[in-house]
Amino acid sequence: MAGSAELRLYNTLTREKTVFAPIDRDNVRMYVCGPTVYDFAHIGNARPVIVFDVLFRLLRHVYGADKVVYARNITDVDDKINARALRDYPGLPLNEAIRRVTEKTETQFLDDARALGCLEPTHQPRATENIGGMIEIIEKLLANGHAYQAEGEVLFDTRSMRDYGQLSKRNLDEQQAGARIAVDAHKKNPGDFVLWKLSSHNEPGWESPWGRGRPGWHIECSAMSQRYVGEVFDIHGGGLDLIFPHHENEIAQSRCAHGTEVMANVWMHNGFLQVEGRKMSKSEGNFVTIYELLHTEKFGGRTWPGEVLRLAMLMTHYREPIDFSIKRLEEAERLLAKWPAVDAGNAEPDAAVLAALADDLNTVAAVQALHALAQGGDPSVFAASAALLGVLPEKTEVDEAVALDIDRRVAARLELLKAKNFAEADKLRDELLAEGVQLKDGKDAVSGERVTTWELKR
Ligand SMILES: [Zn+2]
Repeated sequence: MAGSAELRLYNTLTREKTVFAPIDRDNVRMYVCGPTVYDFAHIGNARPVIVFDVLFRLLRHVYGADKVVYARNITDVDDKINARALRDYPGLPLNEAIRRVTEKTETQFLDDARALGCLEPTHQPRATENIGGMIEIIEKLLANGHAYQAEGEVLFDTRSMRDYGQLSKRNLDEQQAGARIAVDAHKKNPGDFVLWKLSSHNEPGWESPWGRGRPGWHIECSAMSQRYVGEVFDIHGGGLDLIFPHHENEIAQSRCAHGTEVMANVWMHNGFLQVEGRKMSKSEGNFVTIYELLHTEKFGGRTWPGEVLRLAMLMTHYREPIDFSIKRLEEAERLLAKWPAVDAGNAEPDAAVLAALADDLNTVAAVQALHALAQGGDPSVFAASAALLGVLPEKTEVDEAVALDIDRRVAARLELLKAKNFAEADKLRDELLAEGVQLKDGKDAVSGERVTTWELKR
């Protein structure tokens, strides 16, 4: 790392902050659990998306942009999706209804992530495109005695694993005591979980050695992480609520199938999110989606730009609980307004910003250092540092054909203005704006003629 402190990360597995040492410096691999695509992502879902984007940026800076692989999955098979498809498209065949729900929701999620200033992960695999990999892992688990079949399900046998529960530090006996035995009479142990279950004719299903069925949620991530980041990889991330049972069970499946000592070396979890001091819930009336914040006036009577949401999120350390509020958004907005919009050029990020991020992603200290830099530091160093946090728009590369088309329409609008056809000119301007092209009208300093420049807004 360019002359500064080494990268230290808090590992949920060891409950310690330790120096990060990748398995292969030329191929640093991270997997983060992505959304289940049945509904708009809420502001709590935005937290891991932003936090792990900052880590992705930092890793790319430290090891090289082409040396880091980041996979974030799309869970597009889940009983919540079926329920939503039946509710929203009762007239359609189920497969078609499911496709509409998942496609619409996935597109919306990707739009949200882009608006929040996140880089695209290297891979964004869909569960439904990885069913074969899931079946292979389940076959291995059955063959080596870690899984069994009962009542139309294939289940993981938690007692078969010597050290099940390491991540959540739960022991099986405690789990047994609290379980409702009657409900799960077909399970050998109450903590056993579903790898595969049979589907009825009105549920989505895939052919498998155990009949037409569908995977459990946990096996999806074991299969997709294996395919895109390997049997053992560097970092696995997600929200605190995923530690148990989801991540614990991913570990059990992957380690028992591959015969490995760990699934990922470092497990990172972001803290919970509250809204205006209360747990976010539909019944509390404080449930708010990323879309609503960006595009409607539901929260605080106005829309909020993506970079304001992002900075507001980074003003709390990722492991701390965060209270998302209008006050916090306003604070982030005031801060952003004081920062210069400049190009980084070839400048390196500021050492203090880098050191803060290298200390277990201390974005709070990084934002403070960035702010200090904004008040009189080198503007290009400021921009390079801000880019590590992703809080200022990076220079957008525009496709040449797209740029030519925009130039052509901007010129056409100038002609319309000359001809005093203001209605048509405004229409063209609005069309461009809807595509994210912002026009700036001015006068040429020498000729005094009207000129229009444009830029792409994210
Ligand atoms: Zn997962």
